[in-house]
Amino acid sequence: MRKNKGVRIFIARYQGHKQMKNTGNIVVLGGGESGTGAAVLAKKKGYEVFVSDAGKITEKYKNVLSNYCINWEESKHSRNIVLAADEIIKSPGIPENVEIIKSAKKKNIPVISEIEFAGRFTSAKKVCITGSNGKTTTAKMIFHVLKKAGLDVCIAGNVGESFAWKLAERDYEYFVLEIRSFQLDNMYKFKAEVAVLLNITPDHLDRYNNDFEKYCNSKFKIIQNQKAIDYFIYNADDPVITERLKKIKTNSLCLPFSQKILLDKGASVVNKNKIRFKTNIEEFHMNLADLSLKGRHNTYNSMASGITARLFDIRKVIIKESLSNFQNVEHRLESIGVVRGIEFFNDSKATNVNSTWFALESMTKPVIWIVGGMDKGNDYSELQELVKQKVKAIICLGKDNRQIIKAFKEEVSSIVETYNAGDAVYSAYHFGAPGDVVLLSPACASFDLFENYEDRGNQFKQAVYDL
Ligand code: ADP
Repeated sequence: MRKNKGVRIFIARYQGHKQMKNTGNIVVLGGGESGTGAAVLAKKKGYEVFVSDAGKITEKYKNVLSNYCINWEESKHSRNIVLAADEIIKSPGIPENVEIIKSAKKKNIPVISEIEFAGRFTSAKKVCITGSNGKTTTAKMIFHVLKKAGLDVCIAGNVGESFAWKLAERDYEYFVLEIRSFQLDNMYKFKAEVAVLLNITPDHLDRYNNDFEKYCNSKFKIIQNQKAIDYFIYNADDPVITERLKKIKTNSLCLPFSQKILLDKGASVVNKNKIRFKTNIEEFHMNLADLSLKGRHNTYNSMASGITARLFDIRKVIIKESLSNFQNVEHRLESIGVVRGIEFFNDSKATNVNSTWFALESMTKPVIWIVGGMDKGNDYSELQELVKQKVKAIICLGKDNRQIIKAFKEEVSSIVETYNAGDAVYSAYHFGAPGDVVLLSPACASFDLFENYEDRGNQFKQAVYDL
């Protein structure tokens, strides 16, 4: 009698499990934010899941995986397990050309990104933001407006927690997703209901065989699978985007934005002092002076955000209010204070030439410029004109500063080399006079001297506070 009861319970449980089970077994490569999120979502959806990381998995993610009874390994990829997967979810940090991915492809095992995987499990409207620069700022700004309007919205992707992780917690009506090119590379069926393409300038070319064309292809995947009811919001002042649009056919409803030309629809600057938003017959205006984030680049970000908000019928007053009280994101052209009349800006997140170009362009006072780090094959010539006009001294902050010195020695007479944030700030302060600005906008990655860009920005800020 007792025995039968036991069996019954076992069968009941087993059937419950079976109802949820998706067929197949999934291997997740990489046990970081997106990999762990994907693993948890897959487990919740009933897949067999295994996480494999060639490096170390942090304690935080190990605990999550254990809590969900997900098997994992670190410091290796066991070929017999990985290559037995029905599908592989690859974390964006893993390049396409590593041995295990090549072997998986040879065996025709689909390799997808965490965003592609998560996209299968929601019918939410997805606002997806990509571009070489401005993704985090714009994603946060759009989220800010949508949230202020009371929508059931979540922000995820490359900013904060992963899409899969958030979705494993619960579904929402709207997702605002920041998507990098490495994530787009392994997306096939995913569709953004609203796609935002901010700009395309050279970055991460090391991952694209130094082929800018391949990097552009990746960025344009943001509009893949879009239909006539979906929206494509893009920067019409970006020559790379507009050239590409002449060559390809888009099904989407296009809503461009421009600070140079007056557009029939989308967003344009009128009379040099207002943005005109026009998404349907109705239009509304907002004073440039009322935008909380200053600088030409941030005007683009605000334009993209305003258009997106109008698509969801958010009231103009809420859009205006949100764009005028949005708080700047840390390490992005962040004003951190004035010491002896010299203002200090932390733009540590400027890890490529284009973002630094916009930072320099928005400076209205003489600049002492802190620059350098790990150079991803930068072409500094694009900055020469601005540097000549605005920069009075250059403080190099990198292990190898030869390219920077070579590029600017004709434009700037004072160039010094430093190897830590304290010395950089102290030297900059020494060159400064009241009315100048000190700008940390490195145009390079940070890994030669710092853990990451946040570490670089935080050390810079601390050094300023210590002055
Ligand atoms: P991403 O997420 O694409 O790296 P962020 O919003 O984190 O972009 O900003 C990165 C850097 O680019 C910062 O230095 C910021 O000031 C600058 N930036 C922000 N928006 C833009 C833009 N639209 N065009 C160029 N640079 C930008």
